Amino acid sequence: MKTRKFAGIIALALATLTPGWSAQSRAGAPEPEESRLKSLVTRLASPEFEGRQGQGGEKAADYLVTQFRKLGAGPLFKDSFLQPIPAREPGKVQGRNVGAMVPGASPTLKDEWVIVSAHYDHLGVRRGTLYPGADDNASGVAMMLEVARCLADGTEKPQRSVMFLGFDLEEVGLFGSRYFVEHSPVPLDHVALFITADMIGRSLGGVCDRYVFVMGSEHVPAVRPWIEEAASRHPRLKAGLLGSDLLLLNRSDYGPFRARKVPYLFFSTGENPCYHTPQDVPETIDYPKLESISRVICDVARRATGDVAVPRWSSSPDNPLAEAVTIRDAMKSLYDNRETLQIGPTQVVLMSNTLRTLNAIIDRGAITASERAGVVSVARIILASVL
Ligand SMILES: [Zn+2]
Repeated sequence: MKTRKFAGIIALALATLTPGWSAQSRAGAPEPEESRLKSLVTRLASPEFEGRQGQGGEKAADYLVTQFRKLGAGPLFKDSFLQPIPAREPGKVQGRNVGAMVPGASPTLKDEWVIVSAHYDHLGVRRGTLYPGADDNASGVAMMLEVARCLADGTEKPQRSVMFLGFDLEEVGLFGSRYFVEHSPVPLDHVALFITADMIGRSLGGVCDRYVFVMGSEHVPAVRPWIEEAASRHPRLKAGLLGSDLLLLNRSDYGPFRARKVPYLFFSTGENPCYHTPQDVPETIDYPKLESISRVICDVARRATGDVAVPRWSSSPDNPLAEAVTIRDAMKSLYDNRETLQIGPTQVVLMSNTLRTLNAIIDRGAITASERAGVVSVARIILASVL
């Protein structure tokens, strides 16, 4: 107990030193709530939205617009919340991004933007079977709507302007976010930070229970203390930093922003056994974890909208030892569950060797570039072959 009180005093002292975002305001400000997240996920993953593709996708877009209106957020695309995505056939539309905004209060910072986003589309109904997409990505959309509610409620005016984006067509080659960056309503170099979440309601392989993975900080390392401080409020949760190059391909909507060197953070709990199956249902979402992750993202977004310097993009990625700890922990969880996950003998040997190497590196307290390259290539094989 004592140590906690002492920590509280430090946090307060720190907060008063950093203008714009403070412990006092955190104390008064609303936060994402488990019960609201649950009802949003349950609704979005219900048969009503037909797996959020085609007609079901249009219904989901309208639902997002209604939610944004209720929250008091304004339309992003001039006087519309919708950005139609043209189809190849002239005059036809193949999808629609949904966008809302809260204007910044600072005369000097209001032309800078923080984006909180999640794709809302999923796989629809296939051969008569519904693909609910509770984790992919109703969990991310629920987070985005809850963060929008918290930032739009007016208790604390964001200094920078904030954008909330529901991307369409993520499941078909990131088409919605690719269209957005080519037709952005604001210059992309005015985007101080782009935050996106894709699958934040379960765990990697169904076994890495405590972890949410965060990619992108390698280009903006100065935001790491924001993530660590926010995560430290949730003792059950671990925010594991990973370099985006761990994934061979861009796995979600951060891709088009990464390509344009817009500072981004991608949050995900990773692929799990229900991924892209009809079993991705609301009943098996870890709602306390989803609440913690949503609160971490809310804190980071709040910080970025505040009167603080947001770091510029750095092209030379910085990968800390913390990343080796994340890879070690995730690989250990998969390894410890190798029977359940039916991991093959070759991968088991590869994993146990890599775990030994990682433990030695972590004990030594430093990782070289070539060691990291070795670990990353093994991690890619494991991610590709085990999940
Ligand atoms: Zn997804």
